[in-house]
Amino acid sequence: MTKIAILGAGAAGLRAGSLLKQKGYNVEILEASERVGGRVWSIKGFADFTVEAGACFVHGEHSSLYAWANNKNIPVSEVKGSFLYLYEQQLLSHRQLAQEAFFKDFLEFREGYSYYEAEDPREEISVQEFLHAHHVAPAHIPFYSALVGAYGALPEAISMKEMAQAAAAWDEGSKNFRCKTEFTEFLSVDIEVVRDCIHTQKVVRLVEQYAWGTRLVTDMGEIYEADAVIVTVPLTILQDNFISFQPPLSPAKVKAIQQLKMGKGRKIFLKFKQKFWDAQLAEITAGNVAQEYWVEGRGKNSQQAVLTAFILDRTERKEVLVEAMLSELSMAFKTDLRPLFEQALEIDWANMPFVKGLYSYPSPDSSKYRRALALPSHDRLFWAGEATEKYLFGTVQGAWASAERVVSEVQDVFKL
Ligand SMILES: Cc1cc2nc3c(=O)[nH]c(=O)nc-3n(C[C@H](O)[C@H](O)[C@H](O)COP(=O)(O)OP(=O)(O)OC[C@H]3O[C@@H](n4cnc5c(N)ncnc54)[C@H](O)[C@@H]3O)c2cc1C
Repeated sequence: MTKIAILGAGAAGLRAGSLLKQKGYNVEILEASERVGGRVWSIKGFADFTVEAGACFVHGEHSSLYAWANNKNIPVSEVKGSFLYLYEQQLLSHRQLAQEAFFKDFLEFREGYSYYEAEDPREEISVQEFLHAHHVAPAHIPFYSALVGAYGALPEAISMKEMAQAAAAWDEGSKNFRCKTEFTEFLSVDIEVVRDCIHTQKVVRLVEQYAWGTRLVTDMGEIYEADAVIVTVPLTILQDNFISFQPPLSPAKVKAIQQLKMGKGRKIFLKFKQKFWDAQLAEITAGNVAQEYWVEGRGKNSQQAVLTAFILDRTERKEVLVEAMLSELSMAFKTDLRPLFEQALEIDWANMPFVKGLYSYPSPDSSKYRRALALPSHDRLFWAGEATEKYLFGTVQGAWASAERVVSEVQDVFKL
């Protein structure tokens, strides 16, 4: 029976394993950490509901995730309510900002950036350079940082051209949904299918290809053999050369790995003794410390007051950031929130041992390099994971799409 080994039990690895197993392949999934799910991680115990350390939104009413939710009866609710902006230490609504010239410019950028075309198609400028060329004042940059921050990086890192292309190609829909229970529910069907094939705490350090098959070696010296391997580990793990490949990867593959980029960031959950916000509040954006704050328990069965701060690329310690956020929010809500503050939980993805970052973002020439990353290496080494997806990168549906692609590539070579 053809045996396929899969590196990583995140959304991509689990889906690829589940599909292959259902098609009759022998599957073995090796996962470095002690849990499955990767960047989908629902945490219990911090609040009276499950908080989502990683993916928390279903992006798009036409997405495979939304269809899956309907199909598998996973309860989701659309993210609705009031969306406020932090501007000049005040909390302001769209309506209150509507007459400001800078806000009109911002809305125009938001609606129109997918139509951006460089005068010279070879030209590569960052979002920051674009904003600078259009004389956006520093005081207004947080609006743009919050908007493009959804791609997991700051304006100076994101390629204007690649971001525009990805936005233009996005046909998943514009609505966002939250899972009313926990996001890991999206993985539970696949986990059930491959449960017997998953080995956790297997940190793969070496992948060898031979004429007869492949051999994987873990950091403990354990050896696994298979006919072929699917690599789904995050880009950063490949960039750090944490896994050695024999024979070495092709120069094109190495270049793709090095050129693609993954953002750094964290979520900090702030628990308060009581809600000090309006019941309709969904999100606050354009903060100076956090790009976004959202009401974590919204749409869930919860009595507790938890705000999630999404923070990109900062080096300060958690305590420093928490103090800065309490100060920012106290100013905005015109009341000292420190007496109401109870506890903070930090999930710093940049320091997560086997992930080391958020997700891949539109960096210069990334669509070209994603394709190069996805291409099989000879007939025994296959590639999946969110970073391999040309336009759905950075999402769970992207990880799933990569799994479907890689499974058909494996089937082409290893016909049953
Ligand atoms: C903070 C945050 C918020 C997000 N929000 C959303 C959202 O709202 N909606 C959305 O759709 N997406 C969101 N995403 C993105 C989404 O979570 C990812 O795109 C997706 O989960 C990636 O799946 P994957 O299988 O490609 O990678 P991963 O989930 O990272 O899986 C790879 C696995 O490989 C394992 N591994 C690493 N090294 C080794 C090794 N040497 N040997 C064996 N195993 C190894 C890792 O431990 C990991 O489990 C978010 C991500 C983050 C971090």
